[in-house]
Amino acid sequence: MAEISRTNLKVGENVSGQAQTIAVFTVKGSEPGPNVYIQANLHGAEIQGNAVIFELLNRLSELDIRGQITLVPQANPLGLNQKSGEYTLGRFDPVTGANWNRMYYHDLDFLPEFVEQHINADDATVRLHFAAKLSQRMSDAFHSPMGLKTGQNICYTLQQMAVEADYVLDLHTGPNSSKHLYVPEYARASAHYFNIPHVLFIPNEFDGALDEATFVPWWTLSQAFADKGRVLSIEREAFTLELGSQEAISFDEAKLDADSIMSYLSHKEVFANNPYQPKQMTRYGCMLEDYKTVYSPRGGLVEYKASHSEVIEAGQPLARILNIQRYGFDDVLTTISLPETVLPILHYSSGSVLQGAELYKVFYKYFEL
Ligand SMILES: [Zn+2]
Repeated sequence: MAEISRTNLKVGENVSGQAQTIAVFTVKGSEPGPNVYIQANLHGAEIQGNAVIFELLNRLSELDIRGQITLVPQANPLGLNQKSGEYTLGRFDPVTGANWNRMYYHDLDFLPEFVEQHINADDATVRLHFAAKLSQRMSDAFHSPMGLKTGQNICYTLQQMAVEADYVLDLHTGPNSSKHLYVPEYARASAHYFNIPHVLFIPNEFDGALDEATFVPWWTLSQAFADKGRVLSIEREAFTLELGSQEAISFDEAKLDADSIMSYLSHKEVFANNPYQPKQMTRYGCMLEDYKTVYSPRGGLVEYKASHSEVIEAGQPLARILNIQRYGFDDVLTTISLPETVLPILHYSSGSVLQGAELYKVFYKYFEL
C-alpha cells in the first residue's frame, strides 16, 4: 500500500499577518519510479479538480505505486475565497488584474552556460542539475531584495514542487465547457492515454501557464543539446486538463476523470504491470492557432444554441441575442452563425453580455486523432 502524508505549505500572508497555506498530499510508493505532480483549483471557481483529487487519493490509498505523487487540491487560497455575491471570481488577482495562471517563473538566461558545462555529463546528472538550477533560481527570487508579487509567491511555491516532477497535471475547468486537454506538440502521443475527447496542441513556447513553465525549459534544453549533436533522453511532460464547467463539482464525473488520469499514470509506469487502459473513444484535435474565439457582435441577452462537443455546420445558429429595446425593429434578435463547420468547446457562463464578450470558443479546423 502507498503511504499518504499531508503537510501545509505557506504561500503568503494576509493583511493581519496570518499565513495563507495550502494542503499538500504526498503519496509514496515502495519502489522507485516516476515523480508526478498534480494540482487543482488555481483559478478559484474551477473546483472540479478537488473532487478528482479526492477520488485519486481514495484510490491511491488502496494501491501501491512506483515513485511519488504530490497532490495539491486547492492551489490558490486567495482565488478560492474571492467571492462576489454568490459567484466566485478567482481568475484574476483583484488588485492587479493579472491572471493567477500567468505568474510562473521563466528565465533561461543561464542555459548557454549550463549546456557548455554539461555537454559531456550523463542524462541522470543533467536531469538532476537542471532541476536543481531551476529550483535555485526560484529560491533566489524569493530572497530578492525587490520582493515578489502576491501571485508569484503562490506560483513559485507551487512550481518548486512541479519542477522536481517528470509528469505535471494542472486541473482546471472552462466557464461553461466540455472536457478538453492542452498538450504540448512534442507530447502528442500522450493525448491518447487520457479519456478527454477534445485536444488542443500548443506550441513549445512559454506563455505563462504552469504546463508551459514546466515543459518549455526542458524542451529548450533538449534543443540546445541537439544543436551540439547530443540527444538527451529525459522525458518531461505537462498538461492542463479542463474538466468541464466552473462553479460545480460532480463526484460521478470525478470518477471518470480519475480513470482518465490513472490511465495516463499507468502508461508512465506509476503502477506495476500497466493495469489501467484508456477508453476507446473518438478524440478530436485542434492546433492552438485554429482555436478561435467568437466575440459577441452586440450587447444583449443570449440564448446559447450550440452545446459542447456537438458539431455545428456552417450557417447553423450558435446563439441568439435579444436586444429588447429594439422591439418592433428587424434587429431585435440577432442570430450568430459561422461560415464554416466548427466544434464548440466552451461558452460564456452568463446569459447577459456586453458587446465584445467571449461568446464561444470553437475548434475551427479540427481533425480526428
Ligand atoms: Zn483555469
